[in-house]
Amino acid sequence: MTSSVPPAAASPGSNFIRNIIDEDNRSGKWDGRVATRFPPEPNGYLHYGHAKSICLNFGLAETYGGICHLRFDDTNPEKEEQEYVDGIIGAVKWLGFDWQQHLYFASDYFDIMYACAESLIKAGRAYIDSQSSEEMRRHRGTLTEPGTDSPWRTRPIEENLDLFRRMKAGKFADGTHVLRAKIDMASPNINMRDPAIYRIRHVSHHRTGSKWCLYPMYTFAHPIEDAIENVTHSICTLEFEDQRPFYDWVLDALADAGHFPRPLPRQIEFARLNLTYTVLSKRKLIELVDEKHVTGWDDPRLPTLSGARRRGFTPEGFRCFAERIGVAKSDSWIDMSVLEECMREHLNEIAPRRIAVLDPLKLVLINYPGDATEYCQAPNHPLKPDLGRRDMPFARELWIEREDFMETPAKGFHRLAPGNTVRLRYGYVVKCTGCEKDANGRITTVFAEYFPDSKSGTPGADQYKVKGNLHWVSVAHAYNAEVRLYDRLFVCPHPGQRREGGLEGMERNFLDDINTDSIRVIKALLEPALRAAKPEERFQFERHGYFVADRHDSVEGAPVFNRTVALKDSWMKTG
Ligand code: ATP
Ligand code: MG
Repeated sequence: MTSSVPPAAASPGSNFIRNIIDEDNRSGKWDGRVATRFPPEPNGYLHYGHAKSICLNFGLAETYGGICHLRFDDTNPEKEEQEYVDGIIGAVKWLGFDWQQHLYFASDYFDIMYACAESLIKAGRAYIDSQSSEEMRRHRGTLTEPGTDSPWRTRPIEENLDLFRRMKAGKFADGTHVLRAKIDMASPNINMRDPAIYRIRHVSHHRTGSKWCLYPMYTFAHPIEDAIENVTHSICTLEFEDQRPFYDWVLDALADAGHFPRPLPRQIEFARLNLTYTVLSKRKLIELVDEKHVTGWDDPRLPTLSGARRRGFTPEGFRCFAERIGVAKSDSWIDMSVLEECMREHLNEIAPRRIAVLDPLKLVLINYPGDATEYCQAPNHPLKPDLGRRDMPFARELWIEREDFMETPAKGFHRLAPGNTVRLRYGYVVKCTGCEKDANGRITTVFAEYFPDSKSGTPGADQYKVKGNLHWVSVAHAYNAEVRLYDRLFVCPHPGQRREGGLEGMERNFLDDINTDSIRVIKALLEPALRAAKPEERFQFERHGYFVADRHDSVEGAPVFNRTVALKDSWMKTG
C-alpha cells in the first residue's frame, strides 16, 4: 500500500464508477435511472471512512439526478441499537445529504427474505444442513483443496421445507440446523461453497422484537435489500469483491423464481479509506471508547463524524476531501494532512478572524494613561470586507504571546525585544523599553512606549516602518477561556502495524501506539467579542489556527473552544 493521494482522474470528477453509470446510461440499461444506497449497520457510530462512502453514494445520486437511500442493515440482532440509528441519521444529515422518503430498515424485509429462502428451497437451490458448525468448517476445504458435500445436501425438498418452517416456528435450538445455498462445494471461491443463508438465533431484535428466531446472513440479505429497493448500483468496499459471485447468484436465482425483475442491481467495489494517524474500524473505535482512552463517541480526537463535528470540521470540508481523494480499485493510505488541508481551505473562507493569546505575557505601555480605554477596529476577514469589522478595546496593560518577546533577541527575531519597535496589530506602534523578572528569572512583564500618532488607520500611521506585527488583548477586557488543543490520537502513521524492520502487515496492538499527550487544556486570553460565541461558531484565531465553540460544554456568555486545526501543517514537527 502506498501513502498518497491517487493521481487526479482524467477529467475532473470522473472515476471508474461514473464510467460504469455513463455506460449504463448510454446502453439504456436502467432507462437513465440511478439509485444508490448507504447501508450502515447500526452497531456503532459513523467514522471518516463512512463519510467517504456517504459522499460517494449520495454524490452520485446528486450528479445523475438519482436518489440515494439510507438503509439500516440491521439483520444481526445481537449488536444493534436504536442509539446508533439516531446517531447515524444525525451524522448523514449533518453532512448535508437528503434521502427524502427513502429511509429503510433491512429488518422490515424479513418476511420477504423468508419467502425468498422458501423459494430457493422449492427450486432445489437451498437445503437444511444439520451438521454442527465444527463439521461444516471441516468440510469446507481450503484455498487449495475443494470442500466435501454435506451428508444432508441431498435432503428431499419437502423435508427441507418442513424443517425450515419448524425452524421459523421456534422448534429448534440455536446451531442445530442451518439453511445453505446449494451451489458448488468444489468452487475455487470459498464463498460459493454452499454458504449459509439462514441461521437460528433465539434473540430479540431491536425493531422486530421476538417475532423471529431465525435471521438471514448478511451476504444473503444484502442483495435482496438492494433488489427490493430497485437499487441500480450497489457500491461497497473491496473486501466484498469475493462475495460478488454470490450476490449475483442470489439475485439470479430469485429472478428465476419470479421474485425480482431484470436487470438486477450490480455490486461495484471501491477501496476503503485508510487514514494515517488514526483507526477506521468500528471495533477499534468501540475499544477506544469502552476503555476510556477518549471521553466518548464524540470526543473531538476520535475519527467519528460526531467527533469531527465537535472538533469543528465542516461538512463542506468532508465533501472536498471525498472529491480530492477520489475512488480507486486498490487500497492506499491517505495522509491525515490531506483531510486537514481540506478543512483549512473551507474554514479559511468562512471563519471570521479573532484574536487569542494562548500563552500570555503582560505588556505595559508606560506612557499610556492608566485609566483610558479606546477602541481599535479590526476586520473580520482580510479578504471579505462584507464580513465587517469589530472594535477591540485597547488599554495600558495588554496580553501578548510569551514567544513574541525575547530579552536577547536571536538573529532575525523581529518581534519585541529591548529597543525594538513593532506594531500592535490594528493598534499602535510601540518601542520596548525593558522587562521585569521574578526570582527564578522568568519574565513577568514587558514594558514599552507607544507612539500616539501611530494608530492603524489614522493619517500619520504609515510613517512607521516596522518588521514585527503582534497580536494582543487588553488585560482589563480579556475573556479568560478554556481552550483545548488537540494533537493526533496516535503517534505513528499506521497504528497497530509493525514499524520499520518488522514484517509488512504484521499486527501489533494498536492501543500501544496511542499518543498519551493528545489533548492539552489551557486557559487562554481572548478578545472580549468571543464571549458571545454560540456553540459551533467557528473562528480563526489569528496565527493560531481554526477554533470552534464546543457544542456541549459552552454555556451562554462563556464558550469553551476546541482547536479544529492549526494554520499550517505543523503536526509532530514541534515539541
Ligand atoms: P467497519 O469496517 O468500520 O467495522 P463496516 O464496513 O462494518 O465498518 P458498515 O456499517 O457496514 O460498517 O458500513 C456502511 C458502509 O460504509 C458500507 O458500505 C461500507 O463499505 C462503508 N465503509 C465502511 N468503512 C469504510 C471506509 N473506511 N471507507 C469507505 N467506506 C467505508
Ligand atoms: Mg460491515
